[in-house]
Amino acid sequence: MISDKERKLREDICHVAKMMYAREFIGGPAGNISARLDEDRFLLTPSKPFKQLLRPEQLIIIDSTGKKVGPHTDANMDLTPTSEVPMHLAAYNTRPDVGAVLHGHLSYCVAMTAAGKTIRPHVLTEGMLFLGDIGVADYATPTTQELGDNVAKVVVDHDCVILPYHGVIVASTDLWAALAKMEVLEQTAQINCLVNQMGGEKPMPREHIAGMLALREKMGMNLPSDANLLEN
Ligand SMILES: [Zn+2]
Repeated sequence: MISDKERKLREDICHVAKMMYAREFIGGPAGNISARLDEDRFLLTPSKPFKQLLRPEQLIIIDSTGKKVGPHTDANMDLTPTSEVPMHLAAYNTRPDVGAVLHGHLSYCVAMTAAGKTIRPHVLTEGMLFLGDIGVADYATPTTQELGDNVAKVVVDHDCVILPYHGVIVASTDLWAALAKMEVLEQTAQINCLVNQMGGEKPMPREHIAGMLALREKMGMNLPSDANLLEN
């Protein structure tokens, strides 16, 4: 018998997977999703099935060391956790406030960093409101503990972390907050691409940026870091 909380999280992960697929954030074998069940247990997408077709009973539970724990159902007994477990645990093990982690291969985010460009949240009001500073992890081969270690160094004070030549990881309080952040992140990267193609950014005046930060404070939205917003 599973709890109402677990049942809802299983359903929400499947809904979020469909929405990430619709936005082309995931596809084929790419991308994975997790949510915190309690202090030491995390629901996670398995590695093989297409994420947009997942059924709630196929999701897997791991502990904070990455070990698969129950329940083993007919639907998930032959499935293994996503190979990007270290990346997800990096967020949960460094941030007790994190309730969900999304990983996707977002085209504009990857394009910007592959071109050696910085994604600036300053080009979009929602970017400043929802993203704060955007972190960039050092490159490491996907699925490795090294990638998990590199993510841990950055996700500790960033909700959004770019994985160069690969994708992004977004950590937030819950699945829907993380998805909202991921959507704003990709739109911000897309606008950055357009701005660069048009000859570069005409920076927003500093007082307007300060106004966005004041609005965010008024809305009670806390972000782990926005130190760079006013410095640039
Ligand atoms: Zn990936």
